[in-house]
Amino acid sequence: MFSISLGNRPIVARSNNIANKPVSMPKMDTGMVADSVSFGSKKITDAQFPLRLVSGLPCPYCGEMMFTVNDATKFGLQMASAKGKELQMGLIQKLGPQVFTNQKSVAFDIIRHSKEKPELTIKEILHEMAPEAEIRLVEKQKRILFKAQDITKQLTPELMAKTDHDFEVVHSLIERPLDENGFRNKTLQSGFMNLFRKEKDPANKNVLATSIETLLTLPTSYFDKDAFIVKYSKRSSRETAEELLFPYRSSAEHLETRVSGGGTDLDNLLCVHRHCNSKRSSDELDVFAEKTPNLETHMTNHLFAVQGHLARNPNKQLTHYIPNIINRIDKQSHGVLNINLGGSK
Ligand SMILES: [Zn+2]
Repeated sequence: MFSISLGNRPIVARSNNIANKPVSMPKMDTGMVADSVSFGSKKITDAQFPLRLVSGLPCPYCGEMMFTVNDATKFGLQMASAKGKELQMGLIQKLGPQVFTNQKSVAFDIIRHSKEKPELTIKEILHEMAPEAEIRLVEKQKRILFKAQDITKQLTPELMAKTDHDFEVVHSLIERPLDENGFRNKTLQSGFMNLFRKEKDPANKNVLATSIETLLTLPTSYFDKDAFIVKYSKRSSRETAEELLFPYRSSAEHLETRVSGGGTDLDNLLCVHRHCNSKRSSDELDVFAEKTPNLETHMTNHLFAVQGHLARNPNKQLTHYIPNIINRIDKQSHGVLNINLGGSK
């Protein structure tokens, strides 16, 4: 047996050919997510959660600095300028290591390239790097797609007919030259997710889960060097800069997750990086604490910074934020996280 959590309830499928193996589902795209990562939740505006507009706060999950929308635009504009190449390289290398392993290695490639041809802008360099990356990317997509297609051959004929149709759509997409997105996995993934949700037959469900797992390894610009190069070679310098900074922008995180019924009241909201928000996903806070080094310290430092900000800029909406959020952290982590702004730092 393995269980898969989709939306707000776990779905359990009986496994015939997979040993007791937990399947974690599904992080569609860690980078460019909407304002909230929760399924079906409403967008929380900056006015509803003003902490998102505070510059320089450290992230309570990873400890690195968060950008506001304005910060990102400001840096984006600088990065798009002629002198921006240096800043862009610097930022890519300096920003947290969590998401950007591949982007960093691309950055080093760009640096190497730009030393050979200092007259080129980042965009021109990416263009030079793009054709080879594009060919490799299409090849990768094809390999993964064929693998998933092989797996689905175990499905019942009725269901197979449906998935065949999905594959046809993607085949026709793959045969076309890459569009500006550079990769196109979402349509197929969501098609399979829908099939998975509706399917009753446990054997089919199991095969679909394995196919989805395979499809989730399709390259995205956040994890695949070639996808990264292709995508950004087709963007303007400014767009590239802003997108590079996007995962480092602050977002509203639900301490008690939406999936567990957590609301959007202020004392359930914590300001964290977008990429850290996605990383926690629907983990309970105590589970997340186990996986995350120094979480208690990072949270404490974050709340210290918030406390300082509120002392300098009183905000009626946030009068009780600090004590309430500390209580909520204690409750949601079942006492695992003990935040004390009086004593420690
Ligand atoms: Zn973070």
